[in-house]
Amino acid sequence: MTGVSRWKCNKHGSEQVGPEECSGCVRDFTERQDAKTMTGDERAAEMRRWGSQLTVEFGKVHQRIEELVGRSVYTHEMAGQELWDALVEEARTQQHIGFADVLAQLPWGKPGLVGGPTAGVVDVLP
Ligand SMILES: [Zn+2]
Repeated sequence: MTGVSRWKCNKHGSEQVGPEECSGCVRDFTERQDAKTMTGDERAAEMRRWGSQLTVEFGKVHQRIEELVGRSVYTHEMAGQELWDALVEEARTQQHIGFADVLAQLPWGKPGLVGGPTAGVVDVLP
């Protein structure tokens, strides 16, 4: 069969076809711990897990990242290793940057992020 991509969840080892979400990751999302009750290291570790591969619809990942970081997070903040590392650190410390800092990170003069990735097809996070 051609045109159907298969992919393997790096967290659960399960195989999916095309845009299917990993059922283990969906369960992890559904049964997620309240981020406010987690330690900084636990939040940072979970950020790294979610950021290692897109295994559920992006909206779920985005919601969880915002919960772990503790504020609204713009998608451009997830683009690129340096910005991602800063988000992971912010999730760990809960010392938030200001809105002016968020705006200053925008990739002015570069193409923006367009559209939404499909689970398993595009790894958008480092
Ligand atoms: Zn999974």
